[in-house]
Amino acid sequence: MDTERSHTADVVIVGAGLVGSALACALSSAPDLRIVVIDNQTPPPSPSADRFDHRVVALSPAAIKFLRELQVWQNIDERRYCAYQDMEVWDGEGNGRIAFSCNEVHRDELGVIVENSVVLQALHAAMTPRVTWLTPVSVTEWHQVNDLQKLVLSDGSTVTASLVTGADGAHSQLREMAGIPVNAWAYHHSAIVTTIRTQQHHRFTARQRFSHQGPLAFLPLHGGPNGEIGRYCSIVWSLDEEVAERMMNLGDQAFCRELTRVSEACLGEVEWADRRHLIPLWQRHARDYGRPGFALIGDAAHTIHPLAGQGVNLGLYDARALAGEITRAHSRGVPLQHPSVVQRYQRQRKLHNLTAMASMEGFKRLFGNPSPLFLVARNHGLNWVDRQLWLKRLLMQTAAGEI
Ligand SMILES: Cc1cc2nc3c(=O)[nH]c(=O)nc-3n(C[C@H](O)[C@H](O)[C@H](O)COP(=O)(O)OP(=O)(O)OC[C@H]3O[C@@H](n4cnc5c(N)ncnc54)[C@H](O)[C@@H]3O)c2cc1C
Repeated sequence: MDTERSHTADVVIVGAGLVGSALACALSSAPDLRIVVIDNQTPPPSPSADRFDHRVVALSPAAIKFLRELQVWQNIDERRYCAYQDMEVWDGEGNGRIAFSCNEVHRDELGVIVENSVVLQALHAAMTPRVTWLTPVSVTEWHQVNDLQKLVLSDGSTVTASLVTGADGAHSQLREMAGIPVNAWAYHHSAIVTTIRTQQHHRFTARQRFSHQGPLAFLPLHGGPNGEIGRYCSIVWSLDEEVAERMMNLGDQAFCRELTRVSEACLGEVEWADRRHLIPLWQRHARDYGRPGFALIGDAAHTIHPLAGQGVNLGLYDARALAGEITRAHSRGVPLQHPSVVQRYQRQRKLHNLTAMASMEGFKRLFGNPSPLFLVARNHGLNWVDRQLWLKRLLMQTAAGEI
């Protein structure tokens, strides 16, 4: 029985970011499951009405479908997200270009750009009272007691559960405590993220310019502080670490001029940029996604270069798969600490995540190579792909999370 200092649960989720919250939400409607969510931060404040959150994500149609099934997407104000119908990718050092259009795959959109805080708030609002929240606390000790997991928290309370889930992000403490090794390598790249206003309307198109210095993405946002539609984008600009530092130190006007130049003024002049944030980029992959009684999901299991905007999408597919395995086991009377629960989840997700990570790595190397031979080959390659509708459909279906 629960007292204020000792909680019992079927599933405890450590980390209430987008992925951990999506798992909690998916499990909160399952009958009889007791769920505890732990985070070392208090829930973030409501998204600001007159300023964009600097962290945005490009959600795939499959991720949106999942959020719809959770009754989350329906609660997001449509003025807070931007559906994009087209995507343009080009080589800044040649004439290679690929244009993707939602018409080519007979759908209304290729994806949506939305602020992290907007989705997070909708996830929290959709959770049923079956979820117990413990914040801001962290895990100080972790013991196995018979076949149960017992966590001691920083406020002295305890949680005993059949299954612990580590959704505590790229630097996962739980992954470390469990002694699960990771394959990790630094890209020696950092991403500058901020919001910009451009001279021209973005026409609901996501744009990405590649060069050997790194990709620059313009992700269209819906409105703007004064109700102006179509003039605001979120940018993710990945650069060598020293170049990124230099760009961070520029004054606002010089930074905007540099962005206009590097983007080839694809939306005219960059007129304004919000405060810049610098995020070091790493690729990490946990060798195992858990063990009996413990599962890793989201960035705690894998972090990926943001160039294709897939990180949170992969995490949401993890949450969907793990929720499916937990509810399946629970409905059949299989204890959640049974090895098959985590094994079945891992089988569904590991290969898919590894494939996505390998393709991102391939892309990064392809564009990171300044050799003239590579330059000619990849520009021919891009233009060739642009003419192959079947291949573009395949790429769009993969990015949409359908394959
Ligand atoms: C520049 C950039 C751009 C990106 N763009 C995209 C995009 O367009 N599309 C996309 O799909 N992905 C994108 N991503 C990736 C995406 O942001 C991440 O994959 C996603 O946020 C991971 O979510 P998560 O819930 O797994 O982890 P996190 O968001 O890191 O959440 C972890 C949670 O755990 C909590 N926590 C951490 N440590 C502890 C602890 N010790 N104890 C308790 N709680 C803890 C944190 O407070 C947090 O709430 C981008 C990433 C970067 C860096």
